Amino acid sequence: TDPAFIRNFCIIAHIDHGKSTLADRMLSVTGVVSDRDMRAQYLDRMDIERERGITIKSQAVRMPWALTDESGFEQAYALNMIDTPGHVDFTYEVSRSLAACEGAILLVDAAQGIEAQTLANLYLAMENDLTIIPVLNKIDLPAADPDKYAEEIAGLIGCDPLTVLRVSGKTGVGVPELLDEATRLIPAPVGDPSAPARAMIFDSVYDAYRGVITYVRMIDGSMAPREKVMMMSTKSAHELLEIGVSSPEPTATKGLGVGEVGYLITGVKDVRLSKVGDTVTNFAKPSTQPLKGYSEPKPMVFSGLYPIDGSDYPVLREALDKLKLSDAALVYEPETSVALGFGFRCGFLGLLHLEIVRERLEREFNLDMIATAPSVIYEVMSDDKGVTTVTNPSEFPVGKITSVTEPMVKASILTPKDFVGTVMELCQSRRGTMQGMEYVGTDRVELHYTMPLGEIVFDFFDHLKSRTQGYASLDYEPSGNQTADLVKVDILLQGEAVDAFSAIVHRDKAYAYGVLMTERLKNLIPRQQFEVPIQAAIGARIIARESIRALRKDVLAKCYGGDISRKRKLLEKQKEGKKRMKMVGRVEVPQAAFIAALSGE
Ligand code: GDP
Ligand code: MG
Repeated sequence: TDPAFIRNFCIIAHIDHGKSTLADRMLSVTGVVSDRDMRAQYLDRMDIERERGITIKSQAVRMPWALTDESGFEQAYALNMIDTPGHVDFTYEVSRSLAACEGAILLVDAAQGIEAQTLANLYLAMENDLTIIPVLNKIDLPAADPDKYAEEIAGLIGCDPLTVLRVSGKTGVGVPELLDEATRLIPAPVGDPSAPARAMIFDSVYDAYRGVITYVRMIDGSMAPREKVMMMSTKSAHELLEIGVSSPEPTATKGLGVGEVGYLITGVKDVRLSKVGDTVTNFAKPSTQPLKGYSEPKPMVFSGLYPIDGSDYPVLREALDKLKLSDAALVYEPETSVALGFGFRCGFLGLLHLEIVRERLEREFNLDMIATAPSVIYEVMSDDKGVTTVTNPSEFPVGKITSVTEPMVKASILTPKDFVGTVMELCQSRRGTMQGMEYVGTDRVELHYTMPLGEIVFDFFDHLKSRTQGYASLDYEPSGNQTADLVKVDILLQGEAVDAFSAIVHRDKAYAYGVLMTERLKNLIPRQQFEVPIQAAIGARIIARESIRALRKDVLAKCYGGDISRKRKLLEKQKEGKKRMKMVGRVEVPQAAFIAALSGE
């Protein structure tokens, strides 16, 4: 296809503003999916995506569109639409998708207005010099107030409010006009057709039958089937078994040229060999200049995953190996815990990523698991050991600690102005420092904070939502490390630390954490033959204490003189029960108690 008649664009929006619905509508308006085959959220393929109504992996689709000029001449175009994930955990994937486009449709719910991720995505699109097409969606809703929000958008991007398009992805109204406008306004891709090929990978997915499918945007040159190509970051070379476009079902083509968006299949079985952001070039005539933008996805949040049934451990290992094929950002290594047995310490991009992985393990591999409290990466300086990187609180070095640093984020929170007070209070209680605030429109405020990531991963979002009746939205990005007065709090049973409950907290919050956990355990652990002290400690210093009173009753006493088979049955039953018990020192603790304490039940 002549690049002059190609248009590449993405849709950017806050979550739930209707991106996927609009994308689906475009498929039916352009005729690439017949009404008969249409099902809700055609492009959100993973089950979890469809059920949660969120987009995790981006997808690209090619659609035909025709524009008729004043003289009545009809020009055919190829539109490539890239659906981007909307959640903060996947910002890197969003930014790669944007780099594959010349234009962005900025979609805003006409009943909600601009939200935190609308802004975050808009800024990313502007950094990539994309042509922005502002659009109000869901105008069919009775609560829609398009005039008001057109003003809001116009104030934000500096356009005339009358140029803000109004559509409904649900009913389809305004969608053909939107495609016309996108075709007119978005620039055609430019590139050098005779240069060595450079294709940017903006997505790569694992397919059980075909191996890795790599989605690319050709910048320069061209590629054809059977040709050998090379991934520039790893220098790994592969033959192209198939090259094609999705419209939306994969369709093989004779190749891809400048400005085109499509997929490559090389038979590779591991997404790590086809990394998002990497540049693909010809093997025979390689480019020497990779496209800018490759960066390794970095895990930010760590948690231990343990099978509830210890015999599931090999299944968990196999499941993680399999997930890793399709999720380059997931990292894991074996770990053992006194309390929970054998498991894995896993690293995730963020909390949503953690939840998705956990849900996929449970659903696709039928595993029951317990996850330990999420932790971030701390750098601990101690006299004996120098700098230690700690992703598991129980590995916090002992001895004299000279300093601890923790990862920080720049957070921006958008809230109706009535909730500003309560949001500020929450941010302060999470050790946030305010960096500024500004009005968006007339009744909403954007607050800027720097905050420790460790405070955000711990149910911050839930609190934010409940304090603002669900109205506030949050976006954040990493912002370096900072030292803080952090300590490890251990929880001890009969003087022995229970690793799964160790936590790294700010010194000011250590006491509260100690009291909470000792109380919880007191209520969860059954009484034993002897008294069991439960303590919280920082190093050797005890900061909280509870105890479980001793149990007097002897179970066998009841059977004294009774028949022997009843006695045996009772012992048998006790043995059964013990399997699910963990010994911590002399104390028998049902695993269920650990699980309940960790999940805060
Ligand atoms: P995404 O998170 O941006 O991909 O949003 P979705 O497309 O998943 O839509 C979120 C919710 O809004 C779903 O319940 C949709 O049915 C609903 N929705 C999307 N577009 C429209 C629209 O134009 N009108 C109305 N009334 N609802 C819509
Ligand atoms: Mg979606």
